[in-house]
Amino acid sequence: MRIHILPDDVASQIAAGEVIERPASVVKELVENSLDSNAKHIQITIQAAGRKLIEVADDGEGIAGDELQLAVQRHATSKLADAEDLFHIGTLGFRGEALSSMGSVSRMTITSRVQHAEMGARLLVEGGKINQVEPVGIPTGTVVRVEDLFYNVPARLKFLKTDATERRHIDALVTRYAIAYPSVRFHLRQDKRVGLQTSGNGDRREVLASLYGPDIGRQMLEVNSVREDISIKGYISPVGITRGSRRDITFFVNGRWVQDVSLTTALVNAYRTMIMAGRYPLAVIFVEIKPELVDVNVHPAKAEIRFHNQNEIFNSVQSAIRRALVAYTPVQEVTTRERWAYPERPEIAHRQVDIGWKMAADVQAEVQQKQERQDKEERKQLVMPRTKTPRLHLVGQVGMTFLVAEGPDGLYLIDQHAAHERVLFEKFLNQAKSEIPSQVLLEPVTINLGIEEARSLESQIPLLKQIGFQVEEFGPNSFVIRAMPTLLMGMEPGDALRVVIEDFEEDETPLQAEMEEKIIARVCKRAAIKAGQTLTTAEQEALLSDLEACDIPLTCPHGRPTMIHFSIDLIERQFGRKGPR
Ligand code: ADP
Ligand code: MG
Repeated sequence: MRIHILPDDVASQIAAGEVIERPASVVKELVENSLDSNAKHIQITIQAAGRKLIEVADDGEGIAGDELQLAVQRHATSKLADAEDLFHIGTLGFRGEALSSMGSVSRMTITSRVQHAEMGARLLVEGGKINQVEPVGIPTGTVVRVEDLFYNVPARLKFLKTDATERRHIDALVTRYAIAYPSVRFHLRQDKRVGLQTSGNGDRREVLASLYGPDIGRQMLEVNSVREDISIKGYISPVGITRGSRRDITFFVNGRWVQDVSLTTALVNAYRTMIMAGRYPLAVIFVEIKPELVDVNVHPAKAEIRFHNQNEIFNSVQSAIRRALVAYTPVQEVTTRERWAYPERPEIAHRQVDIGWKMAADVQAEVQQKQERQDKEERKQLVMPRTKTPRLHLVGQVGMTFLVAEGPDGLYLIDQHAAHERVLFEKFLNQAKSEIPSQVLLEPVTINLGIEEARSLESQIPLLKQIGFQVEEFGPNSFVIRAMPTLLMGMEPGDALRVVIEDFEEDETPLQAEMEEKIIARVCKRAAIKAGQTLTTAEQEALLSDLEACDIPLTCPHGRPTMIHFSIDLIERQFGRKGPR
């Protein structure tokens, strides 16, 4: 083939691919346009997860009828005049690509009126073909309808995830913009359901509840660090509330939702040693700096940015977060017994114990390191090589955390939490092969969730049923729990359920068995006896024999050891009864 310039429609589709990846990207571009037009009210209507219809209506400044045909062409913008402007951009848009991209991969209708015009105007763009403008009577503002997205790009359609996932992306996006722009009234409707409705009264807390659910929303800590050169505001979770992924960490820079690894790292670093490794805080942070200090023209979707002075921003964010955290969180004592004390607020009880438990793990790691330095050889003996537990004879409990047992060759320390986790896990899995017994609650429990959580729970109701939860929808974002697995009866039902849904992975079609196992492992972690819990001798005995009966007794379902072995040989050396080898 000879070299040739691509025809316009092909070039447009290529460009569209970079900007419009899925329905949520359309919503993002349209909402950004509405915000740029100084709208005070933005109404979003979605049908069939955005495959059928995405409509965004605003009461902003509008587009003049004689500019409509221009607005939908590539590189047509009112927000940028020359290349110099690129370095102090005050609007969300500037590339002039969104409308043309959407127009080339859907049937798009724009209806708009500027304030002093007598009439509004309407324009239809179908798969890139721009029709004639027609006059219509409408109030000031703009309505963009994007119908049959990707109807002419079947390959793209194939890449869309399930409706539930696409809907969740839209919810996530709109909720985040609503929180970033609390003075704008947002209204989101997906099919028949009103997902989000904000008052536009400027109160971010109000929107926090929609983002994280009322419980967590209330507990989020405020960050407020304003300096001349940089302002860092927003909300972060207290150390007791964490997630298994970074998905709930959101950064806005100058009003723009960005994905930025260094900002996320700065945040996570601020929590270091305060939360378990592998757990992440929830946060929504708004950074404001001079526009000339940030390059937003890095990626067509404008989600990536570059900072002029990366390190300075990093340090500012980290120290602002750390200050807020320290101001709200008393420092955890590692050495005193208090760390096991039951906290006064029962609703955060298990979380606090979790922290204590983490400390214990820290100390354990430290001890191990020391040991490593002292004597590599001997340390090897601490690790159990066998796959079955030896026959153990209980000696007792230490530190309300470990069981001490005597075995055929020395001393065994058993982590009661890890051991119980393993026991529950295997019991559950065995039951799952037939049917997991479930117990009806005397009083059904109602829980209220954030939008995303609610959607994710909704899609898992059938799976939950299989593991013994009977859950029903009960109004928008509320659910009622009627029954729960018998094995979990000691737990608060809402807690048990939350654990199940909290970090559902993005992926929508996991293997059923794998999913079940994952959920069960997570539930067991919460349901298991905690460190810091005194056990009666009978309970200790029962735990030991249950552990012996397990198929894989030596690790918890997450892979941590359930027991450590001190051989007679090792003990004798430690007492100097035998010389070092
Ligand atoms: P950009 O936002 O990068 O300028 P777009 O393709 O998104 O490019 O939009 C093109 C132009 O159409 C914008 O610059 C703006 O002038 C106008 N426009 C788009 N949406 C709206 C809206 N909701 N209200 C007012 N003007 C709009
Ligand atoms: Mg735009």
